[in-house]
Amino acid sequence: MNKTTDDQLNQRKNSIASPTPLRDEKEMDMPLRPKSFDAFIGQNVLVENLKVYIQAAKQRGDALDHVLLFGPPGLGKTTLAHIVAQEMESGIHITSGPVLDRAGDLAGVLTNLQRGDVLFIDEIHRLNHIVEEYLYSAMEDFKIDIMLDKGPSARSVRLNLEPFTLVGATTRAGLLTSPMRERFGVVLHLDYYQPEELLQIVQRSSGILDIEVEVDGAMEISRRSRGTPRVANRLLRRVRDHAQIDGDGVVTKRIAKQGLKRLGVDETGLDSMDQKILKAILSKFNGGPVGLKSLAVAVGEESDTIEEVYEPFLIQQGFIHRTSRGRQATQKAYQYFDIAPSSDNEQTKLKWRK
Ligand code: ADP
Repeated sequence: MNKTTDDQLNQRKNSIASPTPLRDEKEMDMPLRPKSFDAFIGQNVLVENLKVYIQAAKQRGDALDHVLLFGPPGLGKTTLAHIVAQEMESGIHITSGPVLDRAGDLAGVLTNLQRGDVLFIDEIHRLNHIVEEYLYSAMEDFKIDIMLDKGPSARSVRLNLEPFTLVGATTRAGLLTSPMRERFGVVLHLDYYQPEELLQIVQRSSGILDIEVEVDGAMEISRRSRGTPRVANRLLRRVRDHAQIDGDGVVTKRIAKQGLKRLGVDETGLDSMDQKILKAILSKFNGGPVGLKSLAVAVGEESDTIEEVYEPFLIQQGFIHRTSRGRQATQKAYQYFDIAPSSDNEQTKLKWRK
């Protein structure tokens, strides 16, 4: 196999196991998206709290306070925003930080909101600061002052808005400015799912998609889905293809194992990029600490993607930790590759057995 084909294959494998949505995936996922709290599996404390806030706001006849959802991609932030709107019996308007790049766009969206509506802004940390400042007064006083014209004829016009609920989603709460963060009355953190919860999600999705899955097969998929429902659903779809072509259509443990292996997802649930990152820290930086930028160059990935997508899972699983001087591999990372920590920086000292 030549290098290009190898790279292409790896890229495909990476995108299959990565929790960020593939092109058009958000639409493909629509039938799988839980539409009520009852169908939403896991995140129990968060869900219970949110239910209380919603019930209380409804009793008072108020719009729900603004809600900030933060956590890695694919854990259910968009899904929850829809559920909030559904439970509040209100409409939802969806946009994202990078799309709202002019104050005029924001004014257009805000003036279309009806009383109690939910405005969902995905990737809210990527709003530009001018739009963000306009949003402050909209969130706080339900008013927005828009500048019309430029130069001597410039004038400001105040628009009154209907009370609304902003639901902001971010993978990087640390990148939000503090004035922005302070304007959210409800701040909720989504955490990775437990394998038992993912098992329920895989079983629910296989029911909706009409895929026959044995419990052992579903367990194999959920155990290796990086704690992420989006990944679990994607792996389920791909393993179903293997079941159809290589078996009799039923996702058994054997078929799931085979399919996942072909997709580059290993027994621990690490995908090829996770493995590449760990390997780079161990072999090129002698276990770290290594700065994010150097690591990104070493593995040929954007540093933002490493920080938002890969690193949180590797930290949660105990393969690396963050120190003030950079990322450092843990004992578990050495064990994973079956090598001993070396005090010598020569790459050749590391014997890769995997
Ligand atoms: P995010 O906005 O955090 O990237 P999404 O809300 O788009 O994630 O969720 C990704 C997919 O995972 C959804 O389409 C949905 O099918 C599934 N999903 C997410 N959370 C849950 C959950 N708690 N229960 C069942 N399915 C879920």
